Amino acid sequence: MSMGHRDGTGAQGLIEVDLGRVAPIVCGRMSRSTILVNVHGPDHPGISAGLMDVLTATGADVYDIEQIVVRGRLTLNVLIGVDGETATIRDLLLFGWEQRLHIEFEVVDPLPTPMKPMTVVTVLGERIGPDDFGAVARAIADGGGNIERIFRLSRYPVVSYELAVSDGDMHKVREQLIVAAAERPIDIAIQPEGLERRAKRMVVMDVDSTLIENEVINLLADEAGVGEKVAAITGAALRGEIDFEGSLRERVALLAGLDEAALKRAAQRITVTPGARTFIRTLRRMGMKTAIVSAGFTRFANALAADLDIDYSLSNTLDVADGVLTGKLAGEFVDGPRKASFLREIAAREGIVTSQVVAVGDGANDLDMLAAAGLGIAFNAKPVVRERADTSVSVPYLDAILFLMGVRRDHVEAADAADPNFDQGQLIDLPGIPPV
Ligand SMILES: [Mg+2]
Repeated sequence: MSMGHRDGTGAQGLIEVDLGRVAPIVCGRMSRSTILVNVHGPDHPGISAGLMDVLTATGADVYDIEQIVVRGRLTLNVLIGVDGETATIRDLLLFGWEQRLHIEFEVVDPLPTPMKPMTVVTVLGERIGPDDFGAVARAIADGGGNIERIFRLSRYPVVSYELAVSDGDMHKVREQLIVAAAERPIDIAIQPEGLERRAKRMVVMDVDSTLIENEVINLLADEAGVGEKVAAITGAALRGEIDFEGSLRERVALLAGLDEAALKRAAQRITVTPGARTFIRTLRRMGMKTAIVSAGFTRFANALAADLDIDYSLSNTLDVADGVLTGKLAGEFVDGPRKASFLREIAAREGIVTSQVVAVGDGANDLDMLAAAGLGIAFNAKPVVRERADTSVSVPYLDAILFLMGVRRDHVEAADAADPNFDQGQLIDLPGIPPV
């Protein structure tokens, strides 16, 4: 056993104990001491219970406990208060020897650490290498922030970690992190930690290029033989380069004459974004309301809402006469401001404040709604949207948004496994799962 007080006074000490070699302890004070006990070694059931038995017998108070198990290796920290540390340390050493665990002790300041406002930094990517993580840690340090906790939320379809950060200049940390994310294939989200983050109750999504991988107007234009022309206008509109309403009406006019069969063929080419079903199923299990709002078209959006069990749907309506499209829109026009007002309307109807709403979109016409929500997420978005949203996701999986909301992937999977109505065949093997 090695034992020593680093400063020689006994007020701030560190005692390290080698496994299995116990010798009498000769130091100690009879005043109440605050001791940080660190236990590490192979995990097995009963360690915490046994440790608490020892502490109970020695009359210790427990002030704090944190534990994590990685690859079967336990790290357990317990902050205790004791009268006379010698007896307690001796009993804990014996316990560690019996349990084949390393136990270290440090006498710490008895004053509790003041509560600090925390910021949550979520890092996600297909792969997060040490260089990526290093860039994140450096960005936080450069802003004066301190990483207090790190937790892995998922390893597929993306790897994601949640970091609790205290102190520092969060504006500077944010700026540094945006630079780090821009230079690397990772996404980084920064949110204040607190009840509000945990209290999200509704998710409002765009449809085209968000919930689905397509732009339906382009699929319809293909049927009308004007695919390339319309796709070019759609691109410019979604980048915010041209007037949205005028350009949409112009494109819809080119669809005049399309019949039911053409609309059905277009519908069959729609592909739901990977992870969309997992995302929505999980939100529902969490008791959250879901909505889609789209400048696309009612017959497609409503079918998606029914298929995916989405609570609210608002979109534009293609005018039909004598079984064919007239080239006009019917009813109210859904543009960017209308998307935002719809978000506010349905939130109010559900008794939800907008700070509890998450909005997800990719186009310039989504910016108003992203700004209206408590958390606006640019999903594989056009640059103008990425720059102005609260945060952005560039991996092509919609369920990656769950990790920004602090959801753990293993909880999603456990809920699927426990659901007798869930078709396990829906789960697909994803390539590129790291060996962890
Ligand atoms: Mg879109």
